[in-house]
Amino acid sequence: MATPIPYNRELEFEYGRVDEITPLIRRVIANNPSAFTFHGTGTYIVGRGKVAIIDPGPDLAEHVDALLDAIRGETVSHILVTHTHIDHSPAVPALQAATGAPTYAYGPHGTRPEDGASEGGGDYDFMPDHRVSDGDAVTGEGWSVEAIHTPGHCSNHLCFSLREEDALFCGDHVMGWSTSIVSPPDGDMKDYMSSLEKIARHPAGRYFPTHGAPIDAPATYVAALIAHRHEREDQILAELANGPATITEMVPRMYVDADPKLYAAAARSVLAHLIHMVETDRVKADGDAGAESVYRLVGD
Ligand SMILES: [Zn+2]
Repeated sequence: MATPIPYNRELEFEYGRVDEITPLIRRVIANNPSAFTFHGTGTYIVGRGKVAIIDPGPDLAEHVDALLDAIRGETVSHILVTHTHIDHSPAVPALQAATGAPTYAYGPHGTRPEDGASEGGGDYDFMPDHRVSDGDAVTGEGWSVEAIHTPGHCSNHLCFSLREEDALFCGDHVMGWSTSIVSPPDGDMKDYMSSLEKIARHPAGRYFPTHGAPIDAPATYVAALIAHRHEREDQILAELANGPATITEMVPRMYVDADPKLYAAAARSVLAHLIHMVETDRVKADGDAGAESVYRLVGD
């Protein structure tokens, strides 16, 4: 019996409106809804007077205008970026032009593929002014965050722990409305699982994901996500127990309740699991573990 993940898909919001969530946290949601962003990117404003902005969002002028409206009369001292997907960092140049604030992030999004394609929705143009490593503190006026490096969804992903409010800005590492996409090669399932276990060891009263509502019981929630990933691996092993198979053959059988439109995303996730399972000698691939490979149980 699969572990249910206690999703929360309720969210009362309006695009461009600033919502006061806690004394130190405000949020503005960008109008970029999709199968991956839910209602859109939630940009957080942290502090009062001299503020940090976390994940400026997609390059939408109306969203940047809404952020600037929300902080009228205040100063932006820091721009924090959880990771460099195109729904998180492309608004940085416009926000920097308007505020002059420096950016803080783990690093750029790696090297652009030679064919120019934006693999996995990466923002290859972003380069942080200040690189932040695991355990680093970033401190502003009336707030301070500790960075936690959480690769997996994206290799440069950081969560930010807000000390004053026992809160964790978890970016896309944990989302309250859905599981996170882990799409190779930048997405890595072994890293993702380790990063889930890492934040499970990091106490926080409440998580604030980029997409969707806050997560009020994060320990239970993260435990369910970890169980879910183990169950996906068990499902893959059960599939392969019936004989060698490709990802294309396995996905419709593994995701029986899913909309076929999501099969392509599911296939990326199954590939991420299979790469990890090949690396840990639980599964074999004919040749390299790739999207088209035939997979089989070890000893089959
Ligand atoms: Zn992302």
